[in-house]
Amino acid sequence: MDTSSNGATTEAASAAGAAGPVSPADALMRLKRGNARSASGEREIKNYSSLGSTPEDGQKPFAAVLTCADSRVFPDHVFDTAPGNLFAVCNAGNVCEDVGLGSLEFAAAALGVSVIVVLGHTHCGAVIASEESIKSGELPPAHLNSFVELIIPAIKDMPTGHSTNDSIATNATYQAHTVESRSSTISSMTSTGKLEVVSGIYDLASGQVTWL
Ligand SMILES: [Zn+2]
Repeated sequence: MDTSSNGATTEAASAAGAAGPVSPADALMRLKRGNARSASGEREIKNYSSLGSTPEDGQKPFAAVLTCADSRVFPDHVFDTAPGNLFAVCNAGNVCEDVGLGSLEFAAAALGVSVIVVLGHTHCGAVIASEESIKSGELPPAHLNSFVELIIPAIKDMPTGHSTNDSIATNATYQAHTVESRSSTISSMTSTGKLEVVSGIYDLASGQVTWL
């Protein structure tokens, strides 16, 4: 594998903007290859201190991620990407809410990311709490209800006998659809092929992303 003078790989360097805009298909392939490296323990990015460009040049991420704030989910680690590659929006349960959606619109329209990944993960406490709320009929106290209320519509009609992982996958897909349906900025870009919105599940044990 070729490396540039600052130690970043050629793939990471191009992802930082040197190669210009990338297609949604190329961006997705880059994420898939990065996750394969990460899951197999063969990550190329070991030093997160290097931007690969000067701060004055601005940022040119190739992908945006809406993922859970869970401390075990570290997007750059999941996809073996360098600082400057991924625009990350994190909240409990990777839900589509106003500030996050505005942030994703900024990433798509102003920064030019070509793919948005809504990434759930196994053992997601936010989804588990939402399942418990459905069972009990009671919302959690204070602001904990803010994300639970956004997850419940996604999983309230799950079939009998479903697993928590089924709910986690359904929530990720639902939030991805919500990103598109609520944002005319994003849906106009997906309709012209400039942008793709996809969803996946990150397995905390294996490190692998299953694409939905
Ligand atoms: Zn979570």
